[in-house]
Amino acid sequence: MPSIFTKIIEREIPADIEFENKNIIVIKDIHPQAKTHLLIIPKKEIPSINDIQEGDSELIAELFFVAKTIALKLWIQDWYQLKFHVWAKGGQEVFHLHLHLTSDL
Ligand code: 5GP
Repeated sequence: MPSIFTKIIEREIPADIEFENKNIIVIKDIHPQAKTHLLIIPKKEIPSINDIQEGDSELIAELFFVAKTIALKLWIQDWYQLKFHVWAKGGQEVFHLHLHLTSDL
């Protein structure tokens, strides 16, 4: 069963898309916890940080590269946070890997 984020990637459900390339999509969080709250999502369905493999290294590095590129583009590079929730007790609700980018600038 595809994750909610795969449904967004496949345009089955709508989202506010900030950026997209062949590996990654960046959307605005539907329930923002900060003035800027983006989700940086690999298109590959990896459930959580605990599931990444050695072969995913470039993809994971690209998540961070996209994060800083967007921070610079939005002029929030002086004040932002990047966060992964890991599994339910770590606050994860959607089991398709995603990096939260938040800023109150
Ligand atoms: P988690 O707690 O799993 O790290 O974060 C999941 C995030 O996805 C939450 O902040 C939640 O608001 C967001 N989210 C869940 N469903 C949707 C959706 O359908 N669209 C968007 N844009 N964000 C969603």
